[in-house]
Amino acid sequence: MTWKEFEKVQPVAATLLKNSIRRKRMAHAYLFEGGRGTGKKEAAQLLAKTLFCLQPADGFFPCEHCSNCMRINHGSHPDVHLIEPDGLSIKKEQIKQLQQEFSKRAVESKRKLYMIVDAEKMSIGAANSLLKFLEEPNADTTAILMTTQLHRILPTILSRCQIVSFKPISPNLLKKQLIENGVSRDLAPLLSHMTNHLEEALSLSKDEWFAQARKIVLKLYTTLTKSPSYAMVFLQEGWFQHFKEKNQLDLGLDLLIWIYKDLLSIHLGKQEDLVYPDQQARFSSDILSYSPRSLAEKMVAILDAKKKLNANVNQQLLMEQLVLNLQGGTAFV
Ligand SMILES: [Zn+2]
Repeated sequence: MTWKEFEKVQPVAATLLKNSIRRKRMAHAYLFEGGRGTGKKEAAQLLAKTLFCLQPADGFFPCEHCSNCMRINHGSHPDVHLIEPDGLSIKKEQIKQLQQEFSKRAVESKRKLYMIVDAEKMSIGAANSLLKFLEEPNADTTAILMTTQLHRILPTILSRCQIVSFKPISPNLLKKQLIENGVSRDLAPLLSHMTNHLEEALSLSKDEWFAQARKIVLKLYTTLTKSPSYAMVFLQEGWFQHFKEKNQLDLGLDLLIWIYKDLLSIHLGKQEDLVYPDQQARFSSDILSYSPRSLAEKMVAILDAKKKLNANVNQQLLMEQLVLNLQGGTAFV
């Protein structure tokens, strides 16, 4: 990630950090908090390179070519340390080891920086060790803690960190990033609705099961215009062959609800927001059969099915009921 990208994705966090570096008013410890995929780790790495780069452009922007930038990118700089959970937690020994490293002089530069990923996973022992460290700040040492669960960080640690919030990436921005990464314009909007994590979206874009799931959901939608008995056969022979597990079915229901969201968007004249842009022509003719109100009701029915799924209702019954509901509910009285 470059500063330019960082500013685009997280304008508030980027400005705050940039200003504090430029004005030489860095905090001793930062706590980056925000959901998965919001770029916390990339930002921490960018910050490290900005502090360590040997030939920064305009005296600020990391060059990405010097030995410091390269080694930070490879995680092999002797004065930049990364701590991640060892199994389920961050253990006291990991923090102790870090302290030992830091009690030596910085190997190359005067400066040192350490990053702690998933800081909420620190054991009590680890947190207490870290606390001592944070209580005796060293002018040339920077700590960057990262967490997705701010409420699980001990208040004593919180009070010693400057908190920097990372906001969820908007679907629109993620959509752009996906297209820049070679994902088709037809698929990118759907992926950006499924996750706000670029890597996760990219791996989904290459997933065969997911590609097939999308096709089957669209086919189910087509089937709804046919007779109920036809739709029931499709559930058996098409749908349940693919959506076998509960989490798969849950995802299938998400894919289904976004079809109705698209129909509603077309009703409202918001064609540019479609989750399934390649279906626009067909959806546009379909909306003649639906009022916005009936579309909203169908979306509620799908949400209701998702709730029941989580309450462990029989999946077969649940889908049959839903299909009948979506067909209008009167066909099988
Ligand atoms: Zn550099």
